[in-house]
Amino acid sequence: MVFYPPEWVPKLPFDPPDSIPISDFMLNEKYGRYPLAQSKPPFTCGVSGRSYTALQVRKRVEFLARGLAKEFGWQPNHGTGWDKVIGVFSVNTIDTLTLIWATHRLAGISTPANAAYSASELEHQLKTSKAKALFTCLPLLPIALEAARNAGIPKGNICLFDLPKEILGGNAPPSEFKTVNQLIDEGAALPSTFLNELRWEKGEGANRVAFLCYSSGTSGMPKAVMISHCNMIANILQLTAFEKSRFAPGHLDVVLGLLPHSHIYSLAVVCHTNVYRGFGVINLPKFDLQQLLGAIQRFKINTLYLVPPIIIALTKNKDLVKKYDLSSVVGIFTGAAPLGEETARDLQVDHPTWVIRQGYGLTETSTVVCSTSDHDIFLGSSGSILPATECRLVTPEGTEIEGYDQPGELVVRSPSVVLGYLNDDAANKETFRDGWIHTGDEAVVRKSPLGYEHIFIVDRIKELIKVKGMQVAPAELEAHLLTHPFVADCAVIPVPDEAAGEIPKAFVVKSASVSADVIERIVVRDIQKHVEQHKSRYKWLKGGVEFIDVIPKSPSGKILRRLLRDQEREKRRKE
Ligand code: AMP
Repeated sequence: MVFYPPEWVPKLPFDPPDSIPISDFMLNEKYGRYPLAQSKPPFTCGVSGRSYTALQVRKRVEFLARGLAKEFGWQPNHGTGWDKVIGVFSVNTIDTLTLIWATHRLAGISTPANAAYSASELEHQLKTSKAKALFTCLPLLPIALEAARNAGIPKGNICLFDLPKEILGGNAPPSEFKTVNQLIDEGAALPSTFLNELRWEKGEGANRVAFLCYSSGTSGMPKAVMISHCNMIANILQLTAFEKSRFAPGHLDVVLGLLPHSHIYSLAVVCHTNVYRGFGVINLPKFDLQQLLGAIQRFKINTLYLVPPIIIALTKNKDLVKKYDLSSVVGIFTGAAPLGEETARDLQVDHPTWVIRQGYGLTETSTVVCSTSDHDIFLGSSGSILPATECRLVTPEGTEIEGYDQPGELVVRSPSVVLGYLNDDAANKETFRDGWIHTGDEAVVRKSPLGYEHIFIVDRIKELIKVKGMQVAPAELEAHLLTHPFVADCAVIPVPDEAAGEIPKAFVVKSASVSADVIERIVVRDIQKHVEQHKSRYKWLKGGVEFIDVIPKSPSGKILRRLLRDQEREKRRKE
């Protein structure tokens, strides 16, 4: 049975254009974006208050594209795009999207990396995406330099975003690295003829990769997800159409840009969709509750884009929250991980007027598949299906689910379903089948009190662990743990955590090199340290290390993580 958007959901106003880059769609009024001259400044630094108008951003994108063309010898109509891959490794800045759109103006590819990454994690992304240049920020420069060196990116191809002094403190960027502003100034000094017009055939925008975002999908290591220009444009149009009735004509929202712009949720929803609608995004460099509350008050933010751990922080720090004037807030939107019904209710009690909406999506669908609407709130649900999107539920045996309240794997078809994983036929075959993506999430469909179908995500079938909404691939941690001399075999699973949602826990079979008289606690600490030295903080084994005799495996040698997870759940239930 195929589930469709409810009848109140508007159709797409037009088919997603498939012969233009995202930069054109975002900066050219002929594709329906809100008039530039009347738009809010697209991005404002929530620390310094600095911003550029939408018209200035359009100019800066063109100048930066010229600057990049000169710096790297690129032209829009030369090459395939794979020769113009730019890594973006930075905290959120007001120029992050300017760089991304300038890359797209040159028909290049942007690969945004998580600012929490360690050097080896960034190196993996730079190597597998074959990035030619890297843009970073001063606080992350040492990590960027190490990763770039190991990935073969010359120092001269590393540039810096210009962060305000409020973030940099007294530190000045070394002059050997060009900054975005310098490249923009250099580009502005060049004649407009320096850069060719971009010419794409019909359909090219659907095949050209705009982003390589990283996701481990249903299994294995983090992989480069190929998001086409048309995929992203489709999701912007889908969400804009779906949310049209939320805003009175001419209303311009101010939204929170705290979530990392490297993650698809922020990239597609917070940045692209809101800026297309003329809204303003207030950027913050990292999560700091006081700074966040201060920014809401100062910039009169209307919509907070959050993940469940931040919502929990809001509900647990009532006294602090009460000190700030949050009267501008109309509602919140949450995604990337499940929002517990209880947490949603706690938040609603504290802020009775706020509309609490939840969206569900994944990197592989350029984000949103379904979302709550203001007029049909059904707490715990991930909402209604977006326009031009179809959903099915299938059992592990492949049987179609025909009714309500029966769990099955969510399978989705939408113009936002991506081109696939880069160089990974096996994962592509498993995940993308006949135009449908198998999400690895278990869902049920229920009818809301108003009688509309809602998607509830009830469990995760795939191996993924979600810590504070960020992906942790068990296979990545297992491969790393196996390099430790004390580890003969291992398996990593998610365990629930009140603050982070989930945290990784490792089951380890001790190697023969651990002699019987070594204290277990010391072995555990050593194994945990091995992760802490090489992996981002959110991947640390905060769920602990447990020794077992043998890792359960299928006859083909696949780790039975689900079995371990179910056993762990049962154990915790009894405790
Ligand atoms: P990512 O590609 O990092 O966005 O991760 C996508 C995964 O996050 C999905 O496949 C789900 O497992 C999980 N996820 C995203 N949104 C939700 C939600 N609203 N409820 C439950 N899980 C979610």
